[in-house]
Order: sequence, then C-alpha cells, then structure tokens
Amino acid sequence: MAAKIISGTEIAKEIREELKKEVENLKEKYGITPGLVTILVGENPASISYVTAKQKTSKNLGFYSIQDNQPEDISEENLLELIDKYNNDPSIHGILVQLPLPKHINESKILYAIDPKKDVDGFHPVNIGKLMIGEADYLPCTPAGIQQMLIRTGVKTEGAEVVVVGRSNIVGKPIANILIQKQEGANATVTVCHTRTKNMEEHTRRADILIVAAGKPKAVTADMVKEGAVVIDVGVNRIGKTESGKAKLCGDVDFEAVKEKAGAITPVPGGVGPMTITMLMMNTVKAAKNAGE
Ligand code: NAP
Repeated sequence: MAAKIISGTEIAKEIREELKKEVENLKEKYGITPGLVTILVGENPASISYVTAKQKTSKNLGFYSIQDNQPEDISEENLLELIDKYNNDPSIHGILVQLPLPKHINESKILYAIDPKKDVDGFHPVNIGKLMIGEADYLPCTPAGIQQMLIRTGVKTEGAEVVVVGRSNIVGKPIANILIQKQEGANATVTVCHTRTKNMEEHTRRADILIVAAGKPKAVTADMVKEGAVVIDVGVNRIGKTESGKAKLCGDVDFEAVKEKAGAITPVPGGVGPMTITMLMMNTVKAAKNAGE
C-alpha cells in the first residue's frame, strides 16, 4: 500500500492559524506586537527569496516586521553594531541574520552576538546548550518543524527507533537531541549516521522513523527503508529547471520508490520546508511573550 503523504504545507497552515489568534490576543490583552527583524547582507538570490518569504509570513500573522538590507561589503564591526542596536530595541523580539554571510564576515561571531532571548533561529550556543539539557527556550526551526510534524500526524516517538542521516549543527545534531529528551513528543532511541558510518543501510532498515538530511538526491533508496516506516525527507536539492523556468527541487530520498514501502513520507517540496518558516514565527511569538513577562 502506498504511504500516507505528510503535508508540511497543511500542518504549517494549521499552526499559522493558531499563531494568528495568539498574536491578536497578545495585542488586545497585553498591548504586545511581536517584532521580527530579518537582516540580509548582499544580494544572494536564494537568500532574497528566503527573507522575502519570512517577511511575508510575519506580516500576514500581524507582526511588526522590518527587512534590513545591508550591502555585501558591510564590515563585521558595522554588522555587530547593527545587531547591538536590535538587541537593545524593545519593539524587536526576534533577530534573524540570513545565512550565508559574505566570506569576510565571521558567521559565528555574528550569531553569537545576538541576544539569546532574541535568537529565534535557535542557533546561539546558549540555546543549543539549553536544548541539550532539556530546558530549551527556542528550538532551531527545521528540527522543531520535524518534531511538530510527527506530533501533529500522531506518529509515536516514545520508544521508537529513530535513525537520522546527517549530523549538521542545524538539522542532524539538533533533531537527534530533541528526540532523545525525556519529554512528550520525544523519548525515542536515536542513531545518527554520517559519511563515516559503516553499513548505513543496516541502521536505516531498523528505523521506525527515518529522518534524512544529507543534501544528496537518492541518499536513501527503497532497499534502505523498513516496510511501514515513517520517512521525513529534509533535503532540498536543485535538479535543473521546470518548464516555467523555476528551479526543480527534490529531496534526499528516492520518493517514488520509497513511498511504495514506507507507512508515511514527507514530499519535497511541501514537506519540511513550509514548517521551518512557521517555527521561526512560533519562536518569535514565544520571544514576544517572554519579553512581556
Ligand atoms: P550539511 O551541513 O551539508 O550536512 C549534511 C550531513 O549529511 C553531513 O553530516 C554529512 O556527513 C551527511 N551525509 C551526506 N551525504 C551522506 C551520505 N550519502 N550518507 C550518510 N551521510 C551523509 O547539510 P544540512 O545543512 O544538514 O542540510 C541537509 C539537507 O537539508 C540539504 O539538502 C539542505 O538544503 C536541506 N535543508 C532543508 C531545510 C528545510 O527547511 N527544508 C532546512 C535546512 C536544510 P559528514 O558530516 O560526515 O560530512
């Protein structure tokens, strides 16, 4: 039987409706409007499209939102000053610096300069550390989106064998950390695979939940998947163009073959992607609430 398709688009829509109501409530009852600044350095087309989408979503939800464009040659010092300005601006609850930054700027130095209370991307070491010890304020957006998808489709993580392919700081490591926590929507037994893993298929075939974030088309094929497994495909790979000239996307999983074997699977596009922006919005609403307490 073909797998159930888990629609990130639909789940994201449901969460955005909830957030919209929460924003109205925050405004009416407490006079707080969640404020988000997205800082874009340079004119990388992919980055422009990401910040445009983030701005559009935040405005739709009723946020106060600022798009701050800076030239490609801005100095590290000036960018740090800009972050300091937003750190001290009470109308801004969330600061997002769109990555990647130009080579002359030390990315870590910039991310670490963001006040952890306004770090709605969840990349600051303070927030990563809090996640590790089960006291997270802001989860990194993509892994948080994956967890929400599992919860909202009723996939049981407690006691489940989860295998994560990929160990990046933004997806692989944090999703593994989230799912091993002694918490609701977690309590899983997690294995993390990477390019040095021996016989990876022996691990992936054991997975009740297989999360793939490798950045390689067909990194996971049907023979690597257990019958009935839940497969979350995080990958976004650009493979040529569609007839309309748009980039054609595919994930890291051989979707057509795996959907015949899996119990449930996320598509690309329309899977994890829409959840990531939504989690940024969720973190910003949370930051606004925290600031009001
Ligand atoms: P990354 O930093 O390039 O990390 C990829 C990881 O996968 C590395 O740990 C690498 O192992 C491992 N890997 C690569 N090929 C493998 C293979 N054949 N077998 C086993 N492990 C393999 O990538 P990332 O930032 O985590 O992103 C992963 C993918 O998710 C990309 O396609 C990215 O575009 C996508 N993504 C999507 C979203 C979204 O919102 N939808 C958000 C973030 C990322 P080593 O460590 O050994 O090199």
